[in-house]
Amino acid sequence: MVRAIVGANWGDEGKGKITDVLAENSDVVVRFQGGANAGHTIINDYGKFALHLLPSGVFHSCIANVIGPGVALDIDKLLKEYDDVVGRGVPKPTLYISDRAQVMMPYHIDFDRFEEERLGKASFGSTKSGIAPFYGDKYLKIGIQVCQLYDPAFLRERLTGIAEQKNAQLKALYGKPPIDVDALIDHLFELAERIRPMVIDTTVFLHKALKENKAILLEGQLGSLRDPDHGIYPFTTSSSPLAGFGTVGAGVPAGAITDVYCVTKAYSSCVGAGPFTTELFGDEATELRNRGGDAGEYGATTGRPRRVGWFDAVATRYGCMVQGATECVLTNLDVLGYLDEIPVCTAYEVDGKQILDFPNTPTLMRCKPVYTMLPGWKTDVRGVTDFASLPENCRRYVDFLEKQVGTPLKMISTGPKRCETLRRC
Ligand code: GDP
Repeated sequence: MVRAIVGANWGDEGKGKITDVLAENSDVVVRFQGGANAGHTIINDYGKFALHLLPSGVFHSCIANVIGPGVALDIDKLLKEYDDVVGRGVPKPTLYISDRAQVMMPYHIDFDRFEEERLGKASFGSTKSGIAPFYGDKYLKIGIQVCQLYDPAFLRERLTGIAEQKNAQLKALYGKPPIDVDALIDHLFELAERIRPMVIDTTVFLHKALKENKAILLEGQLGSLRDPDHGIYPFTTSSSPLAGFGTVGAGVPAGAITDVYCVTKAYSSCVGAGPFTTELFGDEATELRNRGGDAGEYGATTGRPRRVGWFDAVATRYGCMVQGATECVLTNLDVLGYLDEIPVCTAYEVDGKQILDFPNTPTLMRCKPVYTMLPGWKTDVRGVTDFASLPENCRRYVDFLEKQVGTPLKMISTGPKRCETLRRC
């Protein structure tokens, strides 16, 4: 059985918590794309954690956690995160790293920062974790795979060639000093030794696990609208956060995924630049931002205030569609208990017409939200674990969202903790 947990929107939908909940019935949890650029917030018996690269199965000692070949592997950050988790009392997790995963280089992070600085106001709101330069190099075929770290002659030859090209750009475009290849190689060798016991062919490992009927959970990062092909390009990320890509980035057969859990918030939040149709500003935004999540809507990786808005059914319906969602998971329902009435965006208005399908980026930039107003429930529903116990207007809100999104909405999160979750039959 392979299940995928992915985001329906712009990321930060609460996937980490849901992965932590569903991991309980899993044998393997796999990260299949992205890198240390996004964070999953998890609150459990060990405390509060912001995971960036570690799979969310690390809190369950019987789970094998896998970094698949599709991940942008920042070894330094991964090891720091691992040490931090263990240092806080979590039993040493089992972690495997794909020998084909590619390595995030310090120069990728530098290039990300230099380019955002160069772009100034026109920047993409990158987290400056090196993601775009990393995937650029991967597809230019000048990346370095983990397995290549153990071949000193190859590594030196490769990095010398890469540095020649990068140094020209560093000097001419950014006016920065060149890459010190010797120092870089020493640094990489040290990191390679530290992860050596974890490096395996994770694809063979996962195929074997499937044959043994093990339960595998694929953990997505960000959400549908950040997909480079189907999202709000160019305000996307550089790897596909879609469940379909999970088969590639993790290394499982195309038809293996049985369940796609598509996570969405009861309102919208978005980190980074790009069109965001239901965005709120001023006091309304501040109130929702401060009430959202477990401690306000601030980025788990960057601490940046997240842009917030009302639930966008047009975007979420599309987000679930491109994920191939078999069910939708609604998080942060407890956050909305302060409102007299709650707007839900049910259509976009553009060029004098109403549309129901999420459009391409240039059209999206001209869209205005069309709202349907729903009555609020003015009750604190934090921690409610039984759907029938929710106030009537709250249940109606959920029913309405399910109808709008067109995907069965079976699981609801009423608080950031593992136990604050309910199943809706
Ligand atoms: P992810 O990247 O999709 O895992 O999302 P993040 O962890 O970045 O953001 C989700 C935020 O919502 C975190 O602060 C979570 O602790 C919090 N959260 C998740 N589910 C709930 C919920 O049902 N209610 C509340 N109040 N907070 C939640």
